[in-house]
Amino acid sequence: MTDTNNAMTFADLPLSEAVIKAVQDVGYESPSPIQAQSIPHLLEGRDLLGLAQTGTGKTAAFALPLLSAIDLKQRDPQVLVLTPTRELAIQVAEAFQRYARHMKGFHVLPVYGGQDMRGQLRSLQRGAHVIVGTPGRVMDHLRRESLKLDSLKTVVLDEADEMLRMGFVDDIEWIMEQTPADRQVALFSATMPYQIRKIADTHLKEPATVEIKAKTATVDTITQKVCMVSGFHKLDALTRILEVESFDAMIIFVRTKTATVELAEKLEARGFAAAALNGDMSQALREKVVDRLKKKSLDILIATDVAARGLDVERMSHVVNYDIPYDTEAYVHRIGRTGRAGRQGTAILFATHRERRMLRAIESATRQRIDTMRLPSMSDVRDIRIRQFKEDVIKAIDMGEELDVFREIVAELEQENALSYEDMAAALCFMAQKERPFPDAKEPEQPRREGRDRGDRDRGERRRDGERRGERGRERNNDGMVRYRVELGRDQGINPGDLVGAIANEGKISGQSIGHIRLFDNCSSVYLPEGMDKSVIEALKGARIRNRPMELKLWTGDEPQTERRGRRDGGRGRHEGGRREGGARREGGRGGDRRPRRDNSGTR
Ligand code: AMP
Repeated sequence: MTDTNNAMTFADLPLSEAVIKAVQDVGYESPSPIQAQSIPHLLEGRDLLGLAQTGTGKTAAFALPLLSAIDLKQRDPQVLVLTPTRELAIQVAEAFQRYARHMKGFHVLPVYGGQDMRGQLRSLQRGAHVIVGTPGRVMDHLRRESLKLDSLKTVVLDEADEMLRMGFVDDIEWIMEQTPADRQVALFSATMPYQIRKIADTHLKEPATVEIKAKTATVDTITQKVCMVSGFHKLDALTRILEVESFDAMIIFVRTKTATVELAEKLEARGFAAAALNGDMSQALREKVVDRLKKKSLDILIATDVAARGLDVERMSHVVNYDIPYDTEAYVHRIGRTGRAGRQGTAILFATHRERRMLRAIESATRQRIDTMRLPSMSDVRDIRIRQFKEDVIKAIDMGEELDVFREIVAELEQENALSYEDMAAALCFMAQKERPFPDAKEPEQPRREGRDRGDRDRGERRRDGERRGERGRERNNDGMVRYRVELGRDQGINPGDLVGAIANEGKISGQSIGHIRLFDNCSSVYLPEGMDKSVIEALKGARIRNRPMELKLWTGDEPQTERRGRRDGGRGRHEGGRREGGARREGGRGGDRRPRRDNSGTR
C-alpha cells in the first residue's frame, strides 16, 4: 500500500453519501490500493482492466462506484456481474447488499445453476438493480427472456481467468453480445492469459488499467512463518501462539477498525495486555498507547495498516498478520515493524487456502520461502505454561526478605488449621493460575486448520473463558459461539422452539449451549458453540425440521433484508454456498447441484 493510498479516505472519493456511510459502518478505514485506483475510473464511466486477485478488496472496488451510480427508481437490471462460481456469486451479492444498506429499496439478485428456477423467475419478474450470476444460468435467463439487459449500464467480469479455466469463455462472449453497445465493462483477473486479453481487446473501450505491482524487499532480520487457519479459528490459533511463543512485544494486523477493538477486548479477556490502535483514535491517544507499549505496560497492539504507519518500537519482536494484507507492499510494510535496530523479528501470517496466491506473491516479493508453522497443541501450551509457572515460583523465592510477611501467614495457616505444606502450596498454585488457568491436557488437540487437520477446539478453555467473563446471558453474549445458517425460516412455519428441539436432539447438545436464534422469512440463524465436533455438525446438517432438511452451514455475509411477514422472498435470502457451478454451465444447470431440489423460495 502506498502512502498516497494510506492518506486517502473513502470520503475523498466522489462516492454517493449512502455508500460512504455503509463503508464507515463496516469499519473500513481507507481504500485498498485496487479500490483507490479503480473507483475514480469506474465513477467516470470508463472501462477498466483490473489485475487483482482475491483478498485485494476488488469486490468493493467495483461495487462501491457502481452502487453510487444506481438509479433506485429504475427496476430493470443496471449492473450485471459474472462470476465463475455460485460461491463467489453469493459473496458478491452479499457485498452489494452490505454496501447498499442505506439505499432504500435496493435489490441485488444472485442467479446460479442448480438454484430453483421458478423462484429465480419470480424474483427476476419483481426486478433487481444488480444481477450477480454464473455464466451458464445467466445465459439460460437471457434465452428465456426472463432477464433483459436493455437498461444495463455496466458489466463486470469477475475472476475472468477462473471463468476461462472453467470453460466459460464462449458463454461470456455470447453474453457480452447481448448487452447494449454503450455499456461500461470492468474486467478483473488475477492473471492475463491470451484469451482474457482477447476478450478485453474486443469488449473494452480504451480501458484504464489498474495493476498492483509487487515490489521486492529484503527482510533478512525477519523470520517469516505462515499458519493455514480459517476465519473463525484464528482467535484460537492466535491464543495458542501467544501462550507458547516467547515474545517481547507484538503487533497484530487486522483489516478493520472494528476488528482492532474486538480483538483487543478478546485478548484482554484472556489475560493479555493488549490494546487497539486505529484511525478513529486521536493522535494523542494513539501516542499514549504506543508509549505504554514502549514502557512495557502493554505487550500487544492490534492495529490497522493506517494506524501503524511509521510505528517504530525497538522491543517489537513479533508481527502477526491476523488478516492477510491487500498486497505485498502492505505486507512488507507491516512486517517491517519488527526486526528493528539490528534485532531479530518474527512475522506470522494467517492465511486461508483461498489466499494461497497472495502467499506465493509474498514469498516472491520478500524473496524468502515462508515455512508453514505447526500450531502448538494444547499439551504444548500446557507444558510451556507450567514450565513458566515453575520458573516464576523459583524467581519469587529469590526475593528473600520480601517474603517474610508471607512466611508468617503460612505458619499461622499451618498452626490454625493443621494444614500440610503440600496442600497449602497446591491451593496457592491454584489461586495463582485461576485468572489464566492451565489448559487441560486431556482436552482435544489442534484447533481446526484450513484444508487439513480438522481436529477439535479446546472446549475446556472456552468453558473457563465463559466462566471468567461471568454469566452475561446467552441472548446478549455470543462470545465463543459461531453463527450458523439454517435454510428454514418463518415461511416454512419454523419457530425457535423447533430449532432448539432439533439441534438439541440431533446434535446431542444441551439446550443451554444453544445461543441467540433469529428467524427470517426463508432462513434462520443460530449461534452454536465454537469448535463443535465434526460429527455433531454432520449430524445437524442431516437433521430435519417439519420434514424439511435444515441444511446447517456457517453463516456468511450480512443479514437477509428484514422482510415484512407475508412478502415473498423469491430467492434473495436463499443461498447455496461453497459449490462450483461445475459442468452445469448450460441449459438449466444440467449436472450442477445434485441434491434433491425443493421449492422454498417464497411459496407457502
Ligand atoms: P475481496 O478481495 O473483494 O475478496 O475482499 C477481501 C476482504 O477485504 C473482504 O473481506 C472485504 O470485506 C475486505 N475489505 C475490502 N475492502 C476493504 C477496506 N477498504 N478496508 C478493510 N477491509 C476491506
